[in-house]
Amino acid sequence: MKTKLKITFPAHLTSTPLTYILVKEFDLMINILKADIDFNHIGNILYEITGEIDKIDLTLKHLKTLGVKCELIKSTIAIDEKLCTDCGLCISVCFSQALTIGEPDWALDFDTDKCVGCNHCVPVCPSRAIYEIASQ
Ligand code: SF4
Ligand code: SF4
Repeated sequence: MKTKLKITFPAHLTSTPLTYILVKEFDLMINILKADIDFNHIGNILYEITGEIDKIDLTLKHLKTLGVKCELIKSTIAIDEKLCTDCGLCISVCFSQALTIGEPDWALDFDTDKCVGCNHCVPVCPSRAIYEIASQ
């Protein structure tokens, strides 16, 4: 299966190779979509992960024993259709083609299955129609 996983880890784990553990110990294919460490040295990483469902389950259990908070995420954004003007600006930054505009109505279409949670579209929307959601 393929899914998105957001992990949040405390400061004392910043030097622990968490991504390496996911790949080497649990045989997952990993794509890092976002990563940051805040001013309290708390780390956040958003992964797209691909692997067997039982290995993903074991991974989550293992990370939790290390003190890592785990959230499986379907999509990280939502669109307020009342605010959207179908201007198309967000499409230009959506490399996964989750956002499209086309015939017959030329209205914005959002395919949550294609969204990889990069959040690049959020700041480009002049109508502030796109907003971040924590998880689904
Ligand atoms: S979060 Fe990224 S992948 Fe998802 S719709 Fe926005 S730009 Fe596209
Ligand atoms: S940039 Fe905003 S207003 Fe324009 S199509 Fe995208 S969501 Fe709609």
